Amino acid sequence: MENERLRALPGVDTLLHNDASADLLRTFGRPLTTTAVRQVLAESRAKLTSDALDRTPPSATELIERAASWLREQNEPTLHELINATGVILHTNLGRAPLSDEAQDAMLSVARDYSTLEFDIVSGKRSNRSIHTETLLCRVTGAEAALVVNNNAAALLLVLRALAQHKGVVISRGQLVEIGGGFRLPDVLNQSGGKLIEVGTTNRTHLHDYEDAILAIENQAALILRMHHSNFRIIGFTTEPDLPDIVKLGHKHGLPVVDNLGSGALLETTAFGLRHEPTVQESLSSGADVVCFSGDKLVGGPQAGILVGRKSFLNELRVHPLARAIRADKLCLAALSATMLHYLKDEVTQKIPVWRMISMSLSEIEIRSQRLADAIGGQIIPGQSTIGGGSLPTEQLITQLVVLPVPGVQSFTKRLRHRRIITRIQDDRVVFDLRTVPPSSDNMLISTIQQLLA
Ligand SMILES: *Cc1c(COP(=O)(O)O)cnc(C)c1O
Repeated sequence: MENERLRALPGVDTLLHNDASADLLRTFGRPLTTTAVRQVLAESRAKLTSDALDRTPPSATELIERAASWLREQNEPTLHELINATGVILHTNLGRAPLSDEAQDAMLSVARDYSTLEFDIVSGKRSNRSIHTETLLCRVTGAEAALVVNNNAAALLLVLRALAQHKGVVISRGQLVEIGGGFRLPDVLNQSGGKLIEVGTTNRTHLHDYEDAILAIENQAALILRMHHSNFRIIGFTTEPDLPDIVKLGHKHGLPVVDNLGSGALLETTAFGLRHEPTVQESLSSGADVVCFSGDKLVGGPQAGILVGRKSFLNELRVHPLARAIRADKLCLAALSATMLHYLKDEVTQKIPVWRMISMSLSEIEIRSQRLADAIGGQIIPGQSTIGGGSLPTEQLITQLVVLPVPGVQSFTKRLRHRRIITRIQDDRVVFDLRTVPPSSDNMLISTIQQLLA
């Protein structure tokens, strides 16, 4: 019986020669289609010999259909775009900062063709990839020199390795942070070969704590590091010396001061109703020798670690062997240059998506939300969008949310996810925050929700 049923299954060649396979062969090629056919045949064989109730051998058409869905599933890219309706602007899991049109174009053009990455058109000689971003970064921030690496974690590792290997890094206890993704400052410091010299306490560190530590270890300190708190705030009975005072102290003892800003605001955030976020320009004018920050947080550009500061230190970093291992690629440099141009042209809030979202007026959100609510039978309630990405942790922007009461909220949001729409659930209702949805996606969002509700 069993053998008979197995014999009734068509062979691999028969299935590949079936007319219905022609499309698959064209789309996926012979090797992949053959693998798929073998796979579904193996599954059928296993089923036919098992105790399963359904023991009718599948037809050739059925098998080819199964092979087709297997092929589609297996070859569907897992990294693809989606709609972020969560209201978290720099959502790390969703790719942080979306790029401006100009940054996308710049990336595409160097992706498609050969480029001047390390080539000087005038002399016809080899040049340096850092020139494409360095001048722009210096003009935007006022720094003497700049260097771009893979991300800010790498930037920090490079600074510590190049300037503090086998020596002490003086840092306040309140700044020994973990910023997520297993990135803890003490571990990074370990990797760099630098020695941690903690000063002060979790909530209070005074300038004399720094000085006492520096004097106590006599010439063993390499630098003072200031870390942005990133994703948390210490409130209450707290104190930390200001950067200019730390700089004065460091320089008095011949130590450079490195400021890791994390999110790297280049604009004054109070102008957008947010708390003051230390800017890169501020750190530099306070005298910090090296300032590092991410390219894809508040800068609103591609993933990158940006180092700016004094020429002498930047030059040391540039020639360090580790710099080669963590260098930025051409796509990143193209997108970052285009992003910096928005700052120079004073068109940040119009062009850079992150800042467009931060500065989006409540009335714009209201009009779009009303349209969405009307179309899907939702209601509007006031709510809060967040910056995210370890930036301005406790800060929220007033927004309007569209709430949709549906039976089975979990399964509904799962179906939305399958249609590449990510939402929040609040009080057992689906919640959409249009601040993080590009207005050009509103229609698509509406029609997808309508389809799911139908
Ligand atoms: C985000 C952040 C980093 C890491 O930056 P990446 O670009 O994600 O590598 C480091 N330090 C601080 C304070 C941060 O906020």
